[in-house]
Amino acid sequence: MIVSLHVATGAAAGAATGSRLAAVLLGPILHLAGDRLPHQDIGSRHFEIGSGLAALVLLAARRGPVDPATLGAAASSAPDLEHVLPFLRPGGSKLFHGSRGWHRSGRFPADLQLLLAGAILGALVARPSRAV
Ligand SMILES: [Zn+2]
Repeated sequence: MIVSLHVATGAAAGAATGSRLAAVLLGPILHLAGDRLPHQDIGSRHFEIGSGLAALVLLAARRGPVDPATLGAAASSAPDLEHVLPFLRPGGSKLFHGSRGWHRSGRFPADLQLLLAGAILGALVARPSRAV
C-alpha cells in the first residue's frame, strides 16, 4: 500500500483512540492490514518517500509532534523504512514484507489510495485536537 495512505490510516486511528500508546501499538498492525489488501503500488520510491514525509510533517505541524494522530502516522508508516534502511533487515530478510510479510498486489488502484490519503489527512489537519 502506498506510504501516504499508511500515514493517513495511522493518523486516523491515533486520532480516533486519542491515546499515544494505542496509536503506537496499532500502527504496525494497521500497516500489515493495509498491505494485506490486494493493492497497486507506486513504482517511484522518490514519490513514496516524499509524499509520506510531507504528510508526516504536515500532521506534526498542525497537530503537534506528539499528538496521537502524528504518532500513529509515524508508527503505521515506519515498517516501510525497511525497504530503504538496510540495518532494519538483520540477516537480510524483511520483517514486514519478506516471506513472513503479508504484502499482496491487486486491484486497489494507487490513485484511489492517494485520493483517500488526501481526504483523510485533509480532515485531520483541518480540525486540530487542541485549540492553537
Ligand atoms: Zn508496507
